[in-house]
Amino acid sequence: MSQNGPLKTYRAKRNFKKTAEPQAKKLKRTPKTKAPIFVIQRHEATRTHYDLRLEITGVLKSWAVPKGPSLDPAVKRLAVETEDHPMEYAQFEGVIPVGNYGAGPVMIWDYGTFENIKKDSLKKCYGQGHIEFLLHGKKLIGTFALIRTHLSESKPAWLLVKMKDEYASATKNPVKSKTKSAKTGRTMKQISKEG
Ligand code: MN
Repeated sequence: MSQNGPLKTYRAKRNFKKTAEPQAKKLKRTPKTKAPIFVIQRHEATRTHYDLRLEITGVLKSWAVPKGPSLDPAVKRLAVETEDHPMEYAQFEGVIPVGNYGAGPVMIWDYGTFENIKKDSLKKCYGQGHIEFLLHGKKLIGTFALIRTHLSESKPAWLLVKMKDEYASATKNPVKSKTKSAKTGRTMKQISKEG
């Protein structure tokens, strides 16, 4: 197996004989002409959270957002950066078995493509800790910002904030109103049962 750098931590945390999560032996790069992808997975692990993943430099840069995204620009949601995930992870919906890292059901809550709306490259914006992006999801459409507030080696803290646009709303709450899988239409309960 090739030991490419970016996914070392991802692999080290998992036993692929026991979990159905993708092993991702090779990095897959999307052609430059294609829009980068994103996924938001609802993950009922020790604590329920939403994993926001954005395709940047051939991997899924990942943030655990305990409360999930808000459409209200006045609300700042904590987003704790976690290890890079392989591109294939965007397709993963199922159950991580008991005793494994992140054990619990995972739902593809939303997915689609996004646009970098800043002039600098995504790589540069990520490095600078300030990303602004326009989501084209099944549930979420509109502009969001991720702003790094605390730099630490293991778990840098960022804030996920809805930017002001015609999709912003102080009253709509898709996390509460749209609870089924954007991919399969299943509920968390069904995913827990069926895997
Ligand atoms: Mn997670």
